[in-house]
Amino acid sequence: MGNDNRRSSLRKATQAIHTGQLSPPVYGEVSVPIFQNATFSFPSAEEGAARFAEEHPGFIYTRMENPTVNALQDNVAALENGAYGLATATGMAAISTVFQALLENGAHVVATDALYGSTRVLLENEFARFGVSSTFVDTSNLDNLRKALRPDTRLVFIETPTNPTMRLTDLRTAADVAHQHGALLAVDNTFASPYLQRPLDLGADAVVHSLTKYINGHSDTLGGMIVVADNQLYLTMRRVLRLFGAVMDPHQAWLILRGVRTLPVRLDKAQQNAKQLAEFLRHHRNVTWVRYPGLADHPQHELAGKQMDGFGAMLCFGVRNGLEGGKIVLNNVQLITLAVSLGGVESLIEHPASMTHASVPRQERERAGILDELVRLSVGCEDIEDLKEDLDQALSKIT
Ligand SMILES: *Cc1c(COP(=O)(O)O)cnc(C)c1O
Repeated sequence: MGNDNRRSSLRKATQAIHTGQLSPPVYGEVSVPIFQNATFSFPSAEEGAARFAEEHPGFIYTRMENPTVNALQDNVAALENGAYGLATATGMAAISTVFQALLENGAHVVATDALYGSTRVLLENEFARFGVSSTFVDTSNLDNLRKALRPDTRLVFIETPTNPTMRLTDLRTAADVAHQHGALLAVDNTFASPYLQRPLDLGADAVVHSLTKYINGHSDTLGGMIVVADNQLYLTMRRVLRLFGAVMDPHQAWLILRGVRTLPVRLDKAQQNAKQLAEFLRHHRNVTWVRYPGLADHPQHELAGKQMDGFGAMLCFGVRNGLEGGKIVLNNVQLITLAVSLGGVESLIEHPASMTHASVPRQERERAGILDELVRLSVGCEDIEDLKEDLDQALSKIT
């Protein structure tokens, strides 16, 4: 029950809608039903034995495989141009499964310094207990990666663009560097989504997602996914996922299948809004700077154009009066919601220095570019004029 190769020549907006249907459908249904069962009956003892021995396809138990979950796995794997997807309970479950599968006592990881906060803590505090060591560097400069690699480095783990600083890493070169050192490359592709960036095409060995964000897109459920192209890697990760048990529930898979079908439409709209807001903010008297890969003055604007199919809908900007100015903006927006998370149809605003990245020591935070004045915006699909008016009235309260 791998992916549906007949669909692989279709374009992304079509794949998002059509890949991962049941074939054949049970009753001619147009959307995938929820198979909300824990277990599946066998027609005979012999058939049960053949399924356990993997001689016959067929379902056994939902921790191992479920039709609704399979449909989502096929869909996201196709969007990533991968061969196999493994759905997980959350994005963190996808990331921890990759670490559990690829690392052992004595292994070393090199990761992007401005990693998703919980991923960094997972490596530094939890995997360290099992004898895994990690080094965090600014991978937007690949010399930092080259210097950090050691003979015991098993895995390079990259996020691009980074959260919240919007720095990019050149994935094709990073994959070459990792492979020359005998390490694998895994990429957290949550920020860009497979609609805009496909790391496996650029040489990565594994992609992970928090489906909670763009792929589901409605801020109403959690979920995660691992996508790989290599069969051996898939079998290793699948074994580990089934044993450690952080799998996805069928109802969750069904909700996310509903969301992913509009991923391209939502992102087209959101990134069009983001581009216009970036321009608007750049000219606002109370904004000191704007960081968006689609602006010509972004230090990696050219790399973004090469590596991504669009500039995304995340941006950050600095406000006058630092921390105080940031608080005024957050406390005065009326339409835009003050909340962490990202990638939903509604616009969300947050202040990393006091919220998502507050646990990072100040000095390290500032070295990573997470300044007190930095405000992060996940741009949604609302009417652009309403977004501009809301930001304008909130920014104007800074005196
Ligand atoms: C949200 C997020 C995660 C974690 O995902 P959960 O679904 O919350 O477990 C991991 N990486 C990135 C980049 C994220 O934005």
